[in-house]
Amino acid sequence: MNNEFAQRRDLIGSGLATRELDAMLVTSAANVRYLTAFTGSNGAVLVLPGEALFFTDPRYALQSRREVSCRTQVCKGPILAAVGAIAARRRIRRLGFERAHLSYDAHHALSSAVPARTSLEPVAAWLEAHRMLKSETEIELIRRSVATNSEAFEQAARRVRPGMRESDLAAEIDYRMRRLGAEKPSFETIVAAGRRSALPHAHPTGAVFESGQLVLVDMGAFQDGYASDMTRMLSLGAPGARVRRVYRAVLEAQLAAIDAVRPGVTAAHVDRAARQVLKGYGLDRAFVHSTGHGLGLEIHELPRIGKKDKTRLAAGMAITIEPGVYLEGFGGIRIEDTVVVTRNGCEVLTATSKDLRVV
Ligand code: ZN
Ligand code: ZN
Repeated sequence: MNNEFAQRRDLIGSGLATRELDAMLVTSAANVRYLTAFTGSNGAVLVLPGEALFFTDPRYALQSRREVSCRTQVCKGPILAAVGAIAARRRIRRLGFERAHLSYDAHHALSSAVPARTSLEPVAAWLEAHRMLKSETEIELIRRSVATNSEAFEQAARRVRPGMRESDLAAEIDYRMRRLGAEKPSFETIVAAGRRSALPHAHPTGAVFESGQLVLVDMGAFQDGYASDMTRMLSLGAPGARVRRVYRAVLEAQLAAIDAVRPGVTAAHVDRAARQVLKGYGLDRAFVHSTGHGLGLEIHELPRIGKKDKTRLAAGMAITIEPGVYLEGFGGIRIEDTVVVTRNGCEVLTATSKDLRVV
């Protein structure tokens, strides 16, 4: 794996010339981890041609020695001041920075730290574009995260019964996944019962499950840094005709989108496959978000599987497929799997059954 981090740094280093940069400063925690394996919260990487420097503060001196294989500078003062000093010493003229990951204050501090002749060049989603394509090692880590997540769901779902609160189930899920080896949930676990499930990103509340209700559970784990993401529906008691019809529509849409995933097609094409099925049921207007998203070191990565995303899928991408239908006064139904694009199609990593689970 150490080798893999060095390769990534080399790849960015050798791309500097075409971007007319002398160096690239990487400050987003996920991108820093991608380049160095550093898991702490305060680190930056300065990539130069054929070389990379890692900066952190004394709290991470020990940890970075264990994790990071490139040259490291432990800064007593602000990291950006140290970066500025290197820019002066190396006569860096054009210094790239991550425009989405440097605050206004940090940009100000950096421009005061570098010499007057150094210009700061905003760079958009360069590392993120590389991160779309996962290595074998990364896919293996995502696979393990998905397995932990599914097992945590299994263990928690067994305990669901009327009278339990949304927040009880969310806590149970988080506890189970940590017991199974996850560092933490990859986002705040969503548990939404009854009508509240019509809110696609509902926070768990003290609302109590009642028989006859549908419960939406959207959960993911971070394990060894890599995310998983899954949504399943529980029914407290036998579902009614309307629930069964909407559930069938969403499941068909999800299967159609998975069927459409293969190298060469656009993300928008996959999104359309889901939308067309829902249109056939007259439910397309109740599908208010995109069909999915990339995931890896972060829960939301490129590509976005949405109407307008022209990104062509390629083998090695890890994405979610998660169409949903949200009807005010009725509730929401979403089904989500984590899948990997393969050479001739895709592999669904999520093994949890997609039948509506009656408890
Ligand atoms: Zn999700
Ligand atoms: Zn998702």
